[in-house]
Amino acid sequence: MFEGKHGKIRELIDEIGDNHVSGSAQTPLRDDAFCLSDTEKIQSIQKDFTNILHTLGMDMNDDSLKGTPTRVAKMFVKELFGGLSPDNKPKLSTFENNYKYGEMLVEKNITIYSTCEHHLLPIVGKAHVAYISNGRVIGLSKMNRIVDYYAKRPQVQERLTMQIVQALQEALGTEDVACIIDAKHLCVNSRGIKDIASSTVTSEYGGKFKDKSVKRELLDYIKLNTEFE
Ligand SMILES: [Zn+2]
Repeated sequence: MFEGKHGKIRELIDEIGDNHVSGSAQTPLRDDAFCLSDTEKIQSIQKDFTNILHTLGMDMNDDSLKGTPTRVAKMFVKELFGGLSPDNKPKLSTFENNYKYGEMLVEKNITIYSTCEHHLLPIVGKAHVAYISNGRVIGLSKMNRIVDYYAKRPQVQERLTMQIVQALQEALGTEDVACIIDAKHLCVNSRGIKDIASSTVTSEYGGKFKDKSVKRELLDYIKLNTEFE
């Protein structure tokens, strides 16, 4: 079925997926991405999932399966991919840095639950986010929220790392922002190569964080053992 030209395209698509190649820092959304309401999206996805499960041979009248398409559709629109909608972007209000703290601030071990856009399987891991204030500061939990917002999209880890940095650079009015993500991709751990032990590390260093000693300081903070139990 996939012969000649189509065979080549097919191979290329598989290769892009398994190599997790990413294009730009922008999530590839269409201009009409938000023309449908959430309710309309849920209705449409519900039909699609009924069809997928039916095609796989499942009896969709079975009590256990009946609610699955609706459940999955709601979960896609409202939870797993809720970060596609700009309406859900957390408000990143900043404050004057009254105490004149001039060193770096690191919010580390932020839990990440995202979804690989090539296989729609979970990406689970930790993000470490840091910035050096140039006069404005941001609420600590906002850093967790911005990580979660961009994680709730079909994602590529490199893009997620860059989107977090860019959002914070914009909010804080400084280039001096960095993000490191260490995450497991279930598409690597549970299928394909099935390497359960491997994880993927990505990093984006803006402004002063490109400096070797500043980068070193950040990495040392991340290594600190801060388990308080
Ligand atoms: Zn994947």
